[in-house]
Amino acid sequence: MSRTDDSSRDDAERAAPSRTLFRRIFAAEPEGVWAAPGRVNLIGEHTDYNDGFVMPFALPQSTYVAARRREDGQVRVHSLFADETVEFAVEALRPGAVEGWAGYVAGMIWSLRTAADVGLTLEGSGDGADGGSDAGGAAPVLGGVDLLIDSTVPHGAGLSSSAALECSVGLAVAELHSVSAEPLTLARLAQRAENDFVGMPCGLMDQMISMLGEPARAVLFDTRSLTPRPVAVGDPAEVEVLVVDTRAPHRLVDGEYAARRSQCERAAAQLGVASLRELSDRDEPVEESLAGLDDELLRRRARHVITENRRVLEAVDLLAAGDVASAGERMTASHRSLRDDYEVTVPETDVAVEALLDAGAHGARITGGGFGGCVVALAPAGMLDRVRSAVRERYAAAGFGEPEVFAASPSAGARRVR
Ligand code: ADP
Ligand code: MG
Repeated sequence: MSRTDDSSRDDAERAAPSRTLFRRIFAAEPEGVWAAPGRVNLIGEHTDYNDGFVMPFALPQSTYVAARRREDGQVRVHSLFADETVEFAVEALRPGAVEGWAGYVAGMIWSLRTAADVGLTLEGSGDGADGGSDAGGAAPVLGGVDLLIDSTVPHGAGLSSSAALECSVGLAVAELHSVSAEPLTLARLAQRAENDFVGMPCGLMDQMISMLGEPARAVLFDTRSLTPRPVAVGDPAEVEVLVVDTRAPHRLVDGEYAARRSQCERAAAQLGVASLRELSDRDEPVEESLAGLDDELLRRRARHVITENRRVLEAVDLLAAGDVASAGERMTASHRSLRDDYEVTVPETDVAVEALLDAGAHGARITGGGFGGCVVALAPAGMLDRVRSAVRERYAAAGFGEPEVFAASPSAGARRVR
């Protein structure tokens, strides 16, 4: 089976039940079904809000949105996961107006409506209006919608169900209202929804890969120049990406994430650079770049970011040269740096990494923001069963709950399903 088959098979399987459920809940026919994927990040963690490099790929697991326009300016959104329908008026949207899970949906619609406020341009506009450039800057005109949300992305596991939700809703609403936006523009609007509406100060990685993911390729993304570059992860006959969902509950994740971000900003300010990325570009040892920083904690945080950016670029070169084993070593080094310098790992992720390495993986690391979530490994193909029992054994011995272990292959980004 080719690597593209996973998400297209899932799409076909999901679209029909989504339509059926839509009919049941909204007593009307949906106009279409859209999807956007979760992601796994191979390397480049906590670098995206430091203008740095990341290398994620889109998963086959996706969030599906069946949708239909409404004439009354209302939004009704039902999530199967939340088992709840939330309703709000498009006109009344502003940060704080909708909270909880529906905030990601409301935030995306708000972000699209107010794109002009942050200089992001969208072509065309809903309902035959003229682009809204004369509507007090609130372009484009977006009307109401009914939305049915179904998802195969695990929630809160570090595989970015939040970006999958934002991007699937963004694409559905934009297309329904004849608004065309570049994928990268939609990604930035989705990030803005999460930053300014939901209140999570994330970087651009998750939304970027959810929009721009492609089958059979990871994407090296420079978050300063905003340029994506597809990267082959190795011959699928020889190398496989494995994911361990530790199912460890997120602990303190929001506050700690924001704290890391502000520590990086303080480190950059004290070192007199606009972002820590500038230091990873320098051809000098990291300790030399950090010489102007007295605070031991800030030094460790900055050291992670600077060395991580370098590891990403090294891993890209190693993969291009076919040296998968050394690329894996960079992933393991990334984990150690996230554990010791950035302090975002937990015992469950550390044990999974060691179990994967002992089972013969080329490299393994925590993936996503941290404090729980998933571990990703680069491994020789065909090791899934062995790795699964090795990790489960180790978890049982440590008294942890049972983890989920699966193979992941790069899949399509946001798309209309039917
Ligand atoms: P991650 O993005 O790693 O999965 P986050 O904490 O960033 O974790 O986002 C998870 C949150 O996103 C959930 O708690 C929920 O509020 C929202 N969410 C994601 N997918 C859905 C969905 N299908 N239905 C409702 N809410 C969702
Ligand atoms: Mg998220």
